[in-house]
Amino acid sequence: MDMAVSDQKQAGNAAHNSNDGVDRPLAIEARGLVKRFDGTLAVDGVDISVPQGAIYGILGPNGAGKTTTLRMLLGIIDPDEGIRRVFGHDRPHDIARLIGYLPEERGLYPSMKAIEAIAFMGALRGLTLPEGRKRGLELLERHDLAHAADRQIRQLSKGMAQTVQLLGTLIHRPKLVVLDEPFSGLDAINQGKLERMIRTLADEGTTVIFSTHVIHHAERLCEGVAIIAGGKVPYAGSVEAARDRIPAQVRLETRAREGAWLAALPQDARREGDFFMFSLPETGVEPLLRQLIEGDAGILSLSIERAGLHDAFVHIAGEAAARQLEADSQMEGGQ
Ligand code: ATP
Repeated sequence: MDMAVSDQKQAGNAAHNSNDGVDRPLAIEARGLVKRFDGTLAVDGVDISVPQGAIYGILGPNGAGKTTTLRMLLGIIDPDEGIRRVFGHDRPHDIARLIGYLPEERGLYPSMKAIEAIAFMGALRGLTLPEGRKRGLELLERHDLAHAADRQIRQLSKGMAQTVQLLGTLIHRPKLVVLDEPFSGLDAINQGKLERMIRTLADEGTTVIFSTHVIHHAERLCEGVAIIAGGKVPYAGSVEAARDRIPAQVRLETRAREGAWLAALPQDARREGDFFMFSLPETGVEPLLRQLIEGDAGILSLSIERAGLHDAFVHIAGEAAARQLEADSQMEGGQ
């Protein structure tokens, strides 16, 4: 008999983000944020709480309101309604030096050398240029890019240039890092590097919030997530709790095809080839197992699989938003 409780999808994030955020001080608190552009509602009542040290994702399709939300959190634009506090401050500008921001529109001066671009970004956050160069070189070395320090931005690959801009975002050692679609435009290798960079930041106590339209980035990295669609946030909370909104699925294989034990299967049980598939009953699987054993069903295999964030997204935001999310990802090359 082969029994497995499979939950591979959890492996990527739980090890780094086991705390559910309760009782931790908040890096970001937003209540009822509303933003209209020319009378059109772009963001319609967003509530978000991000504990310090968390990796937090804003997940939604293009045009859902992610950038507008991040820009309100940063104080780049003011909300029409609602409040936001960053490390307890109503005016995020007052603590700009604690924040690092990678905007969605990337761009450094093409003729600038990588090291100068990083030092320049540091200067914008209060570092002297020599200190920025020193730290910049350390960062470039740590990310295997020391050879690029004296090359002009225009001479770098897109992924390298994006990494340089990200390092510039981190040069002043911010306590909060805000990344708008940071995975966009990166190949798989650079996406992996960015994931590791984000985890390292969080391990060091930095809070990271990023927007994405790719579910697996949020699922693999995030402790908490805000699902946004059409300017509304139908869910904000832990990734684990989002997944628990849908019952786990049981997959059962029996030697016997018929028997009185069939009546013990839950009502939603359906046959798929050699398997029965059904939602995990609220009472768990044990009572059912007893009846299968007593009824001599001959259990060949049994697995219980928790819902992934994709299923949770469909359940919470609806099929239409999920389809749009998928289309956005495919447009970008099926990331
Ligand atoms: P994307 O990843 O495509 O940027 P998003 O989820 O970040 O999507 P936003 O950029 O926040 O979405 O846009 C939300 C809505 O607000 C969209 O309908 C957009 O057209 C509109 N919008 C955003 N900024 C402005 C602006 N400055 N003026 C007018 N409309 C805007």
